[in-house]
Amino acid sequence: MQEVTIQPERAKPGAAPPRPSPSSLKLQLRALALKMLDLIDNRHRTADFLGTRANFIQERTQVLALVFAGIVFLWIGVDYLTIADPATVAWLAALRTLCAALYVALAIFGTIPHDLPRARAKLAVLVTLPCLFYLTSRFVLEDGASSGALMVYTFFPYVTVAQLGVFSLPLLEGIVLAIPAFVTLFAVEAMFGELLSLSFFGDLTLLVLLTCLALWASMSELQMLLRLYRQATRDPLTGLFNRGALMERTQLEMDRNQQNGHKLCVLLFDLDKFKRINDDYGHLTGDAVLKSFAQILERSSRKTDLVGRYGGEEFLVVLPNTNAADAELRADQIRRACAGVEVLNSDGNKIGFTTSVGVARLKANENVEELLRRVDESLYRAKEAGRDCVILAA
Ligand code: GH3
Ligand code: MG
Ligand code: MG
Repeated sequence: MQEVTIQPERAKPGAAPPRPSPSSLKLQLRALALKMLDLIDNRHRTADFLGTRANFIQERTQVLALVFAGIVFLWIGVDYLTIADPATVAWLAALRTLCAALYVALAIFGTIPHDLPRARAKLAVLVTLPCLFYLTSRFVLEDGASSGALMVYTFFPYVTVAQLGVFSLPLLEGIVLAIPAFVTLFAVEAMFGELLSLSFFGDLTLLVLLTCLALWASMSELQMLLRLYRQATRDPLTGLFNRGALMERTQLEMDRNQQNGHKLCVLLFDLDKFKRINDDYGHLTGDAVLKSFAQILERSSRKTDLVGRYGGEEFLVVLPNTNAADAELRADQIRRACAGVEVLNSDGNKIGFTTSVGVARLKANENVEELLRRVDESLYRAKEAGRDCVILAA
């Protein structure tokens, strides 16, 4: 039998603030370490957040690609006015037209919602294109360039790293995406014999500084995005999806499953006689039971499942790619797991709990309201059948 202990939430009025115990210090340090890891790479994020981030990156890539396409193309006029040699202007115009066309293609083609590898690939193209353009244009500009025109071209590596500031990137991703700008700077300085010169070190320092600032801005935005995302989608008590986020994602999952013909099932849980737990032991104990049940749900779920708090003491689990028999089995495993858990409250009482479960399999062309109505009906039947049981909807 597993025991879950309730931590007191509030100190008595007038009492001295409690000193952090070694275990709570350890927890705080762990939370801080997790926060830092959050900003370094993507491993600690949910697939759902990564999908949202992928959309965000692709939207911004599209906007920036269109803006750069316009600037790169219209700059042909500036080249015409500032560069004396007509052959150089013609070469640059051809190069600019090609670059603008690639930017437009990047904005229009290949966007796949919620696909992070795709979003990363598009972002990599966005940062590599100006570097390649700069490298090629330096060769063209070598003959017949005015120094004023050349100066504008040398801004490219800096623009490349500066744009990283708007993509909410974790540290490692930001560093990788800054590499093309550094390679370009080294390559150009090496090709034109200025490597190890004083001006090169000046350029390098500026690039490092700009990269640090852009990555700092990016990570700060990522931190804010994570916080807002969690507040908007999570239930504060259990940490599971809240009802709004759950419904949105259930609809998405249903659309996906209807399209590819896969099976999808939902489980609706309602804790039995929960009001009595509140009445007998207080709301704090009731809350601890809810948290403990949420942990059981999380432990028994796969990465692809959706687990959320549907309301009060009701929880919904969406199982993509699952047939009715397996869904019924999962529901029963969770129901039985509750029998193995007891919540220990501050008065030393051990509180057990049970749950009733409704199970329904999505029918062809069924909408979310109809599916939820059927699963709710089977949950009602489970209550009628004496609680602590699983009923599959017709
Ligand atoms: P049944 O077996 O028929 O489901 O009985 P029940 O007592 O569980 O059902 P009822 O709907 O009468 O009671 C649900 C209770 O859940 C009432 C409400 O006070 C409590 N509740 C809802 N949200 C929370 C919460 O966040 N924390 C606590 N502690 N209680 C909650
Ligand atoms: Mg209820
Ligand atoms: Mg209930």
